[in-house]
Amino acid sequence: MTFAIHGLAVARGIAIGRAVLVASSRVDVAHYFVQPQEVEREVERIRVGRDTVVEEIVRLQETISHMGPKEAPHELSALLDVHLMLLQDGELIGGVKRWITERLYNAEWALTTQLEVIARQFDEMEDAYLRERKADLEQICERVLRAMKATVSIAANTQRGPRKPSQQDLLLDDTVDVPLVLIAHDLSPADMLQFKQSVFAGFITDVGGKTSHTAIVARSMDIPAVVGARTCSQLVRQDDWVIIDGDAGVVIIDPSPIILAEYGFKQRQGELERGRLSRLLHTPSITMDGEKVELLANIEMPEDAQVAYKSGAMGVGLFRSEFLFMGRQGILPGEEEQYQAYKRAVEGMQGLPVTIRTVDVGADKPLDSSVHDDAHLNPALGLRAIRWSLADPSMFLTQLRAILRAACHGPVKLLIPMLAHAGEIKQTLNHIAQARSMLERKKMPYGAIKLGAMIEVPAAAISVQMFLKHFDFLSIGTNDLIQYTLAIDRADESVAHLYDPLHPAVLKLVADTISACRAQGKEVSVCGEMAGDVGLTRLLLGMGLRSFSMHPAQILAVKQLVLRADSARLAPWALKICQSEEPALEMETKA
Ligand code: PEP
Ligand code: MG
Repeated sequence: MTFAIHGLAVARGIAIGRAVLVASSRVDVAHYFVQPQEVEREVERIRVGRDTVVEEIVRLQETISHMGPKEAPHELSALLDVHLMLLQDGELIGGVKRWITERLYNAEWALTTQLEVIARQFDEMEDAYLRERKADLEQICERVLRAMKATVSIAANTQRGPRKPSQQDLLLDDTVDVPLVLIAHDLSPADMLQFKQSVFAGFITDVGGKTSHTAIVARSMDIPAVVGARTCSQLVRQDDWVIIDGDAGVVIIDPSPIILAEYGFKQRQGELERGRLSRLLHTPSITMDGEKVELLANIEMPEDAQVAYKSGAMGVGLFRSEFLFMGRQGILPGEEEQYQAYKRAVEGMQGLPVTIRTVDVGADKPLDSSVHDDAHLNPALGLRAIRWSLADPSMFLTQLRAILRAACHGPVKLLIPMLAHAGEIKQTLNHIAQARSMLERKKMPYGAIKLGAMIEVPAAAISVQMFLKHFDFLSIGTNDLIQYTLAIDRADESVAHLYDPLHPAVLKLVADTISACRAQGKEVSVCGEMAGDVGLTRLLLGMGLRSFSMHPAQILAVKQLVLRADSARLAPWALKICQSEEPALEMETKA
């Protein structure tokens, strides 16, 4: 039966594919397709993994059979029996084999997929004892996965995506080679990063706000995504057909042929529109009245720089360096590793500027997704971004040295997140001076940098003059500026309706920051999600903004609006909107 779930639109476009439900704890499992000739080998890997665990359990049973009831209670031996039975159960191994042979999933992915299928059946059981066996099943799958790590894996080719199916394929319900959409209750930004370049054609999560970092990474992957879809991961079954409408924030499950045909049409329209936009790639970004507008890219990893360059970005306006620090079980990258990463990004932009933001972890960006900081009830107001860096000077100095060294390879701008206090500015400047003298002492070359601050806390926007004294440029982080101005957790879907870029207070802070910079001839850009929102391009141009930093995939759509804009006419219109009590309504009037 067809039904729809409404969530928050995150990344544009339509994806049609089969559901892959992934438990949040299982996202670190590799997901890739194998070649048909590799199927047997994958099945063999599962068999070896399973047999290894069976042998371990049998050995353990033998050992405990020589022990007394005190050292080895009867329950332990009964539990081992259950584990053996589950391991040898035809539904588990038979199902895993089917995912490998029919869908060409790699062995680990096939195992976790079948685990999800059986876990659902356990959840639905009336008998509490049987329901609890789900935990045993999870444990044995965990052990098989561990045992398989020891077996030689076929080189994961996560780049190898499924071919796009024709409408006919979809209606004929091809089992192999159809697009897959990933559905999870929650994914951390670091988890999401793992899926970059992956086989998935779209993403859905139950939780998350539109500008949560998970959503931001999904958007940077430029595939349709919906977050905040509430109970989606419970309502959808493994392998259901699903449509993601990333523009409307809607998920349609088990679509009828008519709905499939309609969305297939929409999908093709979207592709045509992208084709049309690609003609603007080499067109200079200048308004009708001759104002040059800089369109920059936001990136998460050094390799993204090449994509940014090819998308027509005139530089990187925000390299979120914290992604280099995530998912490393607390082992942070050292100076050399960071230097190489920043150098790769700088080289990837071929002489165009790269703005590297110092690490911004905390709040909805934990270093490791398994680490939950329960001690701090309000992590967004806690030790994040520059506060975290200043609390760990050695880590901060390491990063600063690496960035300064990378500046030998091309133009680098250093951007500091979340500053609010004069004391923080002073300390930051001292650390930068210290990092330079450390490099001089070691006779290590470093380059000149421009220094910038993010304006993302209302206090910073209000005291912008203090920032202008110390920094070469400012970059407005509207995602956090909105969160902190309106007291709305950007990652919480339950208050997503209150997250309003057009609130008069937000507009005032953004407009005032832009004018203060322009009055002093200082560079200013917006690098929050507002910069890539085509609904806001004309407003920001009217406010005087001439530098926008966004996901590379948005650049051409924003450029199209810039080319059609007359900034002189937009200025009085923008002023009226900023002075209005209901800017959203005022936006509907003509410029
Ligand atoms: C912002 O806050 O707008 C911003 C660009 O930084 P981040 O989204 O990484 O917090
Ligand atoms: Mg921010």
